[in-house]
Amino acid sequence: MKNKYAERARLVKPSETREILKVTERPEVISFAGGLPAPELFPVDALKIACNAVLNKEGAASLQYSTTEGYIPLREAISQRMKSIGINTTVENILITSGSQQAIDLTGRLFINEGDIIICESPTYLAAINAFKSYNAKFVEVAMDDDGMVMEELEKKLQEYPNTKFIYTIPDFQNPTGRTLKLERRKRMIELANQYDVLIIEDNPYGAVRFAGDALPPVKHFDTEGRVIYMSTFSKIFTPGLRLGWICADDSFIDKYVAFKQIADLHTDSFAQRITAKYMELYDIEEHINKIKAVYKERCTVMLSCIEEFFPKHLSYSKPEGGLFIWIELPDSVDSGQLFAECLENNVAFVPGAPFFPNGTKKNALRLNYSNMPKDKIIEGMKRIGEVLHRKLEKERKFPV
Ligand code: PMP
Repeated sequence: MKNKYAERARLVKPSETREILKVTERPEVISFAGGLPAPELFPVDALKIACNAVLNKEGAASLQYSTTEGYIPLREAISQRMKSIGINTTVENILITSGSQQAIDLTGRLFINEGDIIICESPTYLAAINAFKSYNAKFVEVAMDDDGMVMEELEKKLQEYPNTKFIYTIPDFQNPTGRTLKLERRKRMIELANQYDVLIIEDNPYGAVRFAGDALPPVKHFDTEGRVIYMSTFSKIFTPGLRLGWICADDSFIDKYVAFKQIADLHTDSFAQRITAKYMELYDIEEHINKIKAVYKERCTVMLSCIEEFFPKHLSYSKPEGGLFIWIELPDSVDSGQLFAECLENNVAFVPGAPFFPNGTKKNALRLNYSNMPKDKIIEGMKRIGEVLHRKLEKERKFPV
């Protein structure tokens, strides 16, 4: 049979991280690879109660086809959350999506023509790279420092690439770096977007998981022209398995997203939406999020102190105030892909950094997740990575390459 695939099938390769995750699922492996929340924090008992309440009171409706925009009480609850973080919004501005991953994919369908430029942080979220690439976008990467995307660099790129469609940014506890865009830069990003007439896609799954420092308003808070499309998710504050995310944007954008979502899946799972809305009616989700923050804070602190204790000195690494990830930059000579293979032999895993750079490879970085492992496993796993790293650097000193 001749190749029957559409041209775009060439643009999509199986995600390297997914392949890595498969290997790391072996029970003996201490994995800092996935971006998985702590499963012991999922509110299973409360969900049983919410689930029963939904089935008892609204059984048939919860199992019926529903509207594309989403279940109104859930959209209302989200709209309240948006207001509480400084985004002035109404129910009409909220569209429920099947995870925020769908919001990213729909953004690609809606905005990207072949060859359009997307400006992003360097590095950035792998599954957004893959989604936007499948629509034939070209990426322009902007350097980051500890305070997020560097605005002078962003301006240069906007001047250099007048056909930029949007800036894709993860301002809070970014995936993969854990870094946060500082306040002045949020304001500047809006000024630049207005000046160069580009959209901003603000992907913010982690902002609600801040466990240190002061909360910052989202980029959309400073939006004066309706050019920021904000997206978030229940995955990190509730459960990822229910696959519930949302888009918050001006009505005209929401209408277009709705049309495209209808094509994709008609609507997001009605049952999951109602269970989540019921949970939020019966329980205080903020209380639940506070529990998550306390656990992640402890795990992050342990992991950071393990870097100091077990890893070679003078590595540069992020010190997140929230979210799920720490990013480590190793000496230039270390290929984190090779390091990964050696660590896996010692039953410990992370994600090598290269795939997070859309245009190429910076081989000496890696991403560590701390949310999914208890303290004792974090200590043991970090010890193992530290030993492999020490051996590797020791060898290099003997045989410089
Ligand atoms: N955006 C970013 C930056 C992410 O890290 C993730 C998941 N890890 C998503 C979007 C997608 O999340 P979900 O589809 O579970 O809402």
